[in-house]
Amino acid sequence: MSVSGSCLCGQINLTISSEPMMAGVCHCKNCQKQTGSAFSTLAGFPLSDIDFGDSELSMYEDSATESGSVVKRFFCGKCGSPIYSQVPAQPDTAYLKTGILDDTSSFKPMFNLWCDSKQDWVTLDETIPAIGKQA
Ligand SMILES: [Zn+2]
Ligand SMILES: [Zn+2]
Repeated sequence: MSVSGSCLCGQINLTISSEPMMAGVCHCKNCQKQTGSAFSTLAGFPLSDIDFGDSELSMYEDSATESGSVVKRFFCGKCGSPIYSQVPAQPDTAYLKTGILDDTSSFKPMFNLWCDSKQDWVTLDETIPAIGKQA
């Protein structure tokens, strides 16, 4: 079974041939800024299992991170949809923004990350680990 997704304008299309290795929610300030929202919903896939076809991804090197590592944030240069992030410690993993998937029904977060900077109104699921800073 493969999973499909796209950005808002459809310039970026992808299919994924594997199941996510992990899924979580990131409440870091940088994810809030990039998404213009309260948090990122992320699923980690082997980068090699994602087929972007002839999609043209834009990339921003985010060096103003609390962790100090440079996060590569890939997005659509036309409509601005965030697509995935890549961290230097795991260059073979794509942390996909799961809102771009056509079917999000299987998304089940395993943890909340960077909870120290979560927005006040957000209530965390207490049945999964809440990590203050990094994993
Ligand atoms: Zn787009
Ligand atoms: Zn984040």
